[in-house]
Amino acid sequence: MSANETATFGDNDVLIVVDVQNDFCPGGALAVPRGDEVVPIVNRMAARFRNVVLTQDWHPRNHSSFASSHPGRQPFETIAAAYGPQVLWPDHCVQATAGAAFHSGLQVPHAGLIVRKGMERGIDSYSAFYENDRKTPTGLVGYLRERGFTRVFLAGLALDFCVRYSAEDARREGFAVFVVEDGCRGIDIGGSLAAARESFAALGIPCLQMREFAAG
Ligand SMILES: [Zn+2]
Repeated sequence: MSANETATFGDNDVLIVVDVQNDFCPGGALAVPRGDEVVPIVNRMAARFRNVVLTQDWHPRNHSSFASSHPGRQPFETIAAAYGPQVLWPDHCVQATAGAAFHSGLQVPHAGLIVRKGMERGIDSYSAFYENDRKTPTGLVGYLRERGFTRVFLAGLALDFCVRYSAEDARREGFAVFVVEDGCRGIDIGGSLAAARESFAALGIPCLQMREFAAG
């Protein structure tokens, strides 16, 4: 372990751990390839932060992002929702199911807040900050501001969807944003991983390996 890996972050820094849930890990309903590999990295990163927020995809049954809610449609097709294009997914992260639970190896007992998202039947929410209409807030911006956080670090699943949209929104809200790249895994459909990397570059969001983060 390098000196960087034991350096701790400051009172103005917060780590947001995105959707490290069973359904997004191998064996789950919407498995991100090698998604479970982020767990030990997230645990080690989180141990360096005083302030950690967890997010949890948390859908009602028959959620509108599920292909099963649209007769004749298949998972990974894109439809035109009222708020814009929406990828259809296999049923996943249904409220209070085992699939929606955090991965059993996730060890972040000091997390101060769990943000649940995607709870409205008619709208999906990739971002931890705004639902997919890009207007309806989850309240997380207010929480971060009120707590005085200025730097937001992100890890979790999936890099090219929920991590990406959360990072973009945090940046647009004026936070300094960093993605812990080895603490993320992507789904990569339709060039989504390349698009995420381009977006991070355009917005000035560094993607770094955990060992590259020095003291806060
Ligand atoms: Zn979802």
